[in-house]
Amino acid sequence: MSDGQVTSQTLLESLMKEERRFAPPAEFRANAWVNDATPYEEAARDFESFWASHAENELHWFKPWDTVLDASNPPFFKWFSGGETNICYNCVDRHTQSWRRTKAAIVWEGEPGDSVTLTYQDLHREVQKFANVLKGLGVKKGDRVSIYMGMVPELPIAMLACARIGAPHSIVFGGFSADSLRDRINDAQAKVLITQDAAWRRGKPGPLKPIADQAVSQTPSIEKVVVLRRAGDAFPVEMTPQRDYWWHELMATADRDCPCEHLDAEHPLYILYTSGTTGKPKGILHTTAGYNLGTHMTTKWVFDLKEDDYYWCTADIGWVTGHSYIVYGPLSNGATTVMYEGTPDYPDKDRFWAIIEKYRINVCYTSPTAIRTFMKWGTEYPARRDLSSLRLLGTVGEPINPEAWMWYHENIGHEKCPIVDTWWQTETGMILITPLPGYVTTKPGTATIPFPGVVADIIDENGEPVAANTGGYLILRKPWPAMLRTFWGDDQRYVATYWSRFPGVYFTGDGARRDEDGYYWVTGRVDDVVNVSGHRLSNIEIESTLVAHPAVAEAATIGRNDAIKGQAISAFVVLKAGNAPTEALKKDLRDWVAQKISPIARPDDIYFSADLPKTRSAKIMRRLLRDIAEGRILGDTTTLTDPGVVQEIKQRYITEGREEG
Ligand code: ATP
Ligand code: MG
Repeated sequence: MSDGQVTSQTLLESLMKEERRFAPPAEFRANAWVNDATPYEEAARDFESFWASHAENELHWFKPWDTVLDASNPPFFKWFSGGETNICYNCVDRHTQSWRRTKAAIVWEGEPGDSVTLTYQDLHREVQKFANVLKGLGVKKGDRVSIYMGMVPELPIAMLACARIGAPHSIVFGGFSADSLRDRINDAQAKVLITQDAAWRRGKPGPLKPIADQAVSQTPSIEKVVVLRRAGDAFPVEMTPQRDYWWHELMATADRDCPCEHLDAEHPLYILYTSGTTGKPKGILHTTAGYNLGTHMTTKWVFDLKEDDYYWCTADIGWVTGHSYIVYGPLSNGATTVMYEGTPDYPDKDRFWAIIEKYRINVCYTSPTAIRTFMKWGTEYPARRDLSSLRLLGTVGEPINPEAWMWYHENIGHEKCPIVDTWWQTETGMILITPLPGYVTTKPGTATIPFPGVVADIIDENGEPVAANTGGYLILRKPWPAMLRTFWGDDQRYVATYWSRFPGVYFTGDGARRDEDGYYWVTGRVDDVVNVSGHRLSNIEIESTLVAHPAVAEAATIGRNDAIKGQAISAFVVLKAGNAPTEALKKDLRDWVAQKISPIARPDDIYFSADLPKTRSAKIMRRLLRDIAEGRILGDTTTLTDPGVVQEIKQRYITEGREEG
């Protein structure tokens, strides 16, 4: 069978049993920004004028553009050519010119329980001051600034200050090692690094400055380091004279006025390295105007943001989700965006729900991994808290298992909140496949349909569109405003990675199928399939079946080489609290999958594990499990949350040995 057919027929038949449908609640629909097909129809009629009309109505321009989409040199597309704008102006300045100047822009909750509210006026002042600090350190338009911080309010201040003066930022997630930070700084050739002493994590200061020091000893491009004092006396750090400066000391004397640079629409906004689930991270480049428009429109419509909403995205700003949906999208809309510094289990496993209760959060956006972790912990934690303020829930990062979707719907949304399952990538900058919650009827496990103006398709390896319910490659037929423009410093690899496999279209690297309603079911990375005796099965679908078993919280499956069948299925399973890891349960789980999907999908071996190897952006890293199962040396583990997890699984795999199923 071909590569494109990522789902076997037997499997599809079982999946088609998904008959649960959730129409938008009547009241939600009545008040939603989008509650009919109008924007879809407008975009289909005239794609360029659809984007142009929103660019004109929703954003501020210093100078109007000449061309909406310049496609003269594909795949190097340009949006709003000739136009001049500044995303910092759109996110901050313009809101200070109305009553919104006293509205909360950023509401921040520290892990120890402290909190800060910055109004738009406060944000305007702090951003201008920090922009002047950067200028004072020699940062000029076009210079790169690396940022290695925790989730503190100074992080968005630093980002917006960079955007204001046209210095592209490159944020490196605060959990990364010195080597990862060093490589990313060197790739971006950053001039200044912004960091902090330490970040609070589970009640303890987690070091950042010492790691930054190690990295900076091998990054010749860095001239100055700015250090925010967060942990203070709890974590004293050493400062290198002439190189390191305290944030608060520089800010104390900074001038309050710093006008926004008038930037070309295509001026580089930031470089962000992907999470590296499939290999070496790539330096994705996003630019100014198109990114601003794409994140603005998706934030407004997907999260149906209203003026008085408290909106909370639980991601870390170190990932694209935080860039687009904690900072740029919400602030461009003049929204109140909530930020949390710490972990969901400190001081107890109800911290997220406590935050929702405390701030009366209306819209909450999180990840399937987080939801599966909450399932593992049990329903008692959300049940402790008042979640009645919630009106909309979202997820992103991985396909959501239908049972995890139902758990979220029942235990967090109390069956009244629509769920938006949003498919997108670091590369896409903005959400591309998603329900609009006032219009699209949802089904657990599918991201539903492309956002208006986004033209997706599923094709086979000859580039032909596949029939309904046939697996294939997920591609995008038309450029979209927030698309990546290239890999930083490597145009060739950009073309090779996304635009070469199928000429003229963007290849996402993901497999998907479309059901009879035209809904997209993303089945995972195209290489993440198991081939058992010629039947191609998608891991996510076997995993979702395991997660549907009452004892299971999380599962990862992989295909390992097998002399007879081609590949055999190994399943790594995390049990819900209160279930014992017995041999009987292993047998039960194998039979469960065989019965729910097909005997072909029956896992050959099952391993119980306390956790799964995940990237720091919380995605299951199947390639490492495959390395273990096939007895190889482990591949790159630098982007793992906890390399100990994979070592433990490896040890257990070797000692327990494989048992044949
Ligand atoms: P790398 O490209 O370096 O391997 P990565 O792909 O994990 O890293 P991201 O850009 O953060 O880095 O992740 C995007 C991928 O996450 C998508 O291509 C898709 O596989 C998966 N994904 C994100 N959201 C969803 C969703 N709602 N449903 C299904 N898959 C999703
Ligand atoms: Mg990717």
